[in-house]
Amino acid sequence: MLESRLLETAVPRPVLELCKRLRKNGYGAWVVGGCLRDLLLGRKPEDWDIATTALPVQTMRLFSRAVPTGIEHGTITVLWRGKSYEVTTLRGEGGYSDNRHPDNVFFVSEIEQDLARRDFTINAIAFDPLDKRLTDPFGGMSDLNHRILRTVGEPIKRFSEDGIRVLRAARFCATHELQIQSETLDAISDSLDSFRRVSHERVRDEWLKAMSAAIPSIAFELMRVTGILAITCPPLLDEVGCAQNRCHAFDVWQHTMRCLDTAIPDPILRVAALLHDIGKPKTRLVSEKTADYTFYGHEIVGAEMADEWLRDYRFSNRDRKRIVDLIRYHLVCYGEDWTDSAIRRFIRRVGEENCEDLLALARADVLAKGRPVEDELLMLQRLRGRIREVVHAGTALRINQLAINGHDVMKHLNVQPGPMIGKVLARLLERVIEDPNLNQRERLFELIDRLFDQGEF
Ligand code: ATP
Ligand code: MG
Repeated sequence: MLESRLLETAVPRPVLELCKRLRKNGYGAWVVGGCLRDLLLGRKPEDWDIATTALPVQTMRLFSRAVPTGIEHGTITVLWRGKSYEVTTLRGEGGYSDNRHPDNVFFVSEIEQDLARRDFTINAIAFDPLDKRLTDPFGGMSDLNHRILRTVGEPIKRFSEDGIRVLRAARFCATHELQIQSETLDAISDSLDSFRRVSHERVRDEWLKAMSAAIPSIAFELMRVTGILAITCPPLLDEVGCAQNRCHAFDVWQHTMRCLDTAIPDPILRVAALLHDIGKPKTRLVSEKTADYTFYGHEIVGAEMADEWLRDYRFSNRDRKRIVDLIRYHLVCYGEDWTDSAIRRFIRRVGEENCEDLLALARADVLAKGRPVEDELLMLQRLRGRIREVVHAGTALRINQLAINGHDVMKHLNVQPGPMIGKVLARLLERVIEDPNLNQRERLFELIDRLFDQGEF
């Protein structure tokens, strides 16, 4: 069989040798799960998972460097030839009374039984690299060839066992460019009670994985039509049918989906693209003057809404801040009349570290209008050039680039540490941004005196 031959050559030598060690000791060993799926779709597998008939203690005994990372599921992480591999004992699963975790896990002796507990047919294929035999009891190969996603067994039952599976389905359709089989699709809407019980961390992880797809909107459209989105992020649904002003060809949701697909595939930047207009439905008004829609302050309202949602879904503080800043400043209205100090103020406001991301988001936002936007793109390109020039010139854009520091200020004013020092430095930076020539020690000390005389502090 063509596939077996392909797999034979693709299984890396260390994986083959790991399986050999298991076999030599009388245990069965198979390569299983996502790595086979990815390989058969012509992608590079991320990690190689092994299924074995060896019990966890037996695996532990066979390998000198083995860690029981998921012992309750029979998983041992084996460090082998410089890499780590998850070696899991063939297992079945008992009932799922909490819709999240199997009530009990029991070991089984046949690979087919192990494959039967897996979520989708394309994830339920095993390959024995020594006998060079493929085990595919649920038609996973055929589904891969036809690019179809379907559950192993009855979809409603499988989805209600473990609520995360509905979201994995949406994610795989996007990342692996699959069509969801109609029965599997229909079952999602009927299985949402179990999805409601999934932890927000797991939802976050799936969303981030979906963001690496060439067309992530496939996942989010599926989430919308099935009701997953209504549970996860209801304000995004308010974007559907929310018409925009004449500069836009699409409603807010369609525009957002295009923006998401156009944004560079950095997962965090794409979350910002997904949420960038979340404040629009709440802020929409009709202008009396132009009789067209306005969305004043939507970036501020949207940044607040996103902040709350990102906290709820347990994004790290760093990622949350980055996303919120991008949303807060996504309206970039550059004009050729901007002075150099206007450019410096812009960089100071949005943060030097956010500039490239912000321009990438602004570009995707402009392209997603669905109208001719050459002029706007040109302006963004010019802004990028000017930002680079300013950064390259090395003029102070941050407090730590000032020619004096907090200690200097304290000494000069003969005061103790306190919030005033920060205020003085911030004020100095404002002035230096207007006039970089001020950034010399003596001139800054003079400036402090002058500001004090003027009663600034
Ligand atoms: P990715 O690595 O891209 O997240 P994956 O399918 O490889 O996708 P893993 O979490 O690595 O996902 O899981 C490995 C295998 O375990 C899957 O291919 C599938 O066979 C099985 N599996 C994972 N999660 C579930 C689940 N929630 N329900 C049933 N089987 C699952
Ligand atoms: Mg995997």
